Amino acid sequence: MDRPYATAEQYERWFIRDCARCGRRGTFAARWPDGHVCRTCHDRTLRAHGRCPSCGLDRVLAGLRAEDQAPICTRCAGFSISYACVECGQEGKLHAGRHCTRCTVTRRVAELLDDGTGRVRPELVPLAELLTSMDNPLSGLARVSSRHGRSAGAVDLLRGLGRGDIVLTHEAFHRLQPWRVAAHLRELLMQCDVLPRIDKQVTLFERWLLEHLDTVTEAEQRRLLRQYTT
Ligand SMILES: [Zn+2]
Ligand SMILES: [Zn+2]
Ligand SMILES: [Zn+2]
Repeated sequence: MDRPYATAEQYERWFIRDCARCGRRGTFAARWPDGHVCRTCHDRTLRAHGRCPSCGLDRVLAGLRAEDQAPICTRCAGFSISYACVECGQEGKLHAGRHCTRCTVTRRVAELLDDGTGRVRPELVPLAELLTSMDNPLSGLARVSSRHGRSAGAVDLLRGLGRGDIVLTHEAFHRLQPWRVAAHLRELLMQCDVLPRIDKQVTLFERWLLEHLDTVTEAEQRRLLRQYTT
C-alpha cells in the first residue's frame, strides 16, 4: 500500500494534533499562527466574514487577536498562507488550484453543461446560473461533483442536457433515470423557466400513466386510455 508514513506512530506524530480552537485531538487541516486546527474548525472559521477589528477591512476573520481572542483577519493575525481565490479574489475555503467553492462549482457546472463547443449550451445558461447561485454552494458542489451514489446520476443527466442528448421537454423527462434526480432537475428547469411550469402532481401522474401504458399490450386499449386521460 502506498502510504506516506511507515507506522501508526509516525502517522500520529505527523498528522495528529490537539486543535488550537476546539481542543479535540485528531487529524489537522492546517497550521495557523495560534496552532494546528482540525478540519471542522478550519472550514467553519473560513466561512466567517466580517470587519476586522484590527485593520477595519472586510475580510475572512480566521485569525485570533492574542490579547482578547477576538476574530481578526489573516493578515493582522500573521498567517503565512492566503485564503484568497486565485480567480475571484474572495476569501474562504479553497479547493483544487486554490479556487473558492463558488468558482469551483461554476467551473464544474460549465464543464458538465458544455454543448461540445467549450461553452454552456445557450438554452441552459439559466440553469447554470441557478446551480451556481444557490445559497449554499457547498451542497451545489456535492450535487454535481461527486461520482458516487445518487449524484452520479445527476452528473450523467447534466452531461446529457449539455450535449443535447436529453431534449428540453417535459416528455423527455418522463423516462429518465434515476427518476428522483430527474424529477429534481426538472423542478430546477421549471424554476428558471427553461421548461414550462406545470404542477408537480401532473408530472407524477404523467409518470404513472406512462408506466401503466407500458403494461397495456393491446394498441387500441392504449389509444383509448391515452384519449381518456390526457
Ligand atoms: Zn477544532
Ligand atoms: Zn485585519
Ligand atoms: Zn473564486
